[in-house]
Amino acid sequence: MKYPYLTSQPVLLVKLILFFAIVSLGGCSGDAERRDKSGIAISFDDHFIKEWYQLRPLFQKYNAKVTFFITCPDSLNAEEVNMLRQFQKDGHEIGYHGTIHGKSTELIAALGPEKYAATELEPGLKHLSAAGFKPTSYAHPGGNHNDQVDSVLFAKGFKILRDVAVARRKISGHQVYAWPPRWISSIFYEFDGEKEVDALLIDVDEVTDEEMTDAIAKAKESNTALMLFGHEPLYGAPQNGEYGFNVSFLANILKEAHRQGLKFYTMSELPQQK
Ligand SMILES: [Zn+2]
Repeated sequence: MKYPYLTSQPVLLVKLILFFAIVSLGGCSGDAERRDKSGIAISFDDHFIKEWYQLRPLFQKYNAKVTFFITCPDSLNAEEVNMLRQFQKDGHEIGYHGTIHGKSTELIAALGPEKYAATELEPGLKHLSAAGFKPTSYAHPGGNHNDQVDSVLFAKGFKILRDVAVARRKISGHQVYAWPPRWISSIFYEFDGEKEVDALLIDVDEVTDEEMTDAIAKAKESNTALMLFGHEPLYGAPQNGEYGFNVSFLANILKEAHRQGLKFYTMSELPQQK
């Protein structure tokens, strides 16, 4: 009673020990959460299957895993199906990009959700299923979608929906803005389970090598995954309406991502990371 602090001191000591034990335990689990997940998720859209297949040695060189978003799968021939199967065996993902590559917001407004699904989603999915593919990721054709479209896609079982981001915008041939990819936060996956994501377009004239190197560094330092996408592999300037990325540009991205120690993720792997 006279010196209550004397009796409380050992209790205080025990409390202090417990406190530091808990703090250090918390620190340990914090370290686990901060483990290096930094990576890059590259995808390719539309129907350039033979052209993509020529990139196989390049992917193998860097042990890169990517995602192919296939549109118009009703027109896949046996050779293309075999190529996609080989890609899947290599660890790549076969995603889906619609049957008719329509404007989904207009389709769903005009037809309603069921007929939208019956027009844009189901026919192609049937063909893919017959060929042995069950896609779990979807890239919005033309980057066009709304919440109603997304809810139909989630109900169909897709685990991640990919939209489009651009670093440069031109109107009537004039550049309206150029935004460094490092500052486009939506293209960096934060491993928060997000299922609606953006990928940056890497087709010709969209991004520079320096900007890519810088964006890869940002993914590394922020422990995120940089999401990119392109169309047809090109070996020179686009001709006659071609749209795509330079193969040498992609090679630089793979080389730099490999050099900076980024992991390669397929799109469906992103929301699964803990
Ligand atoms: Zn497309």
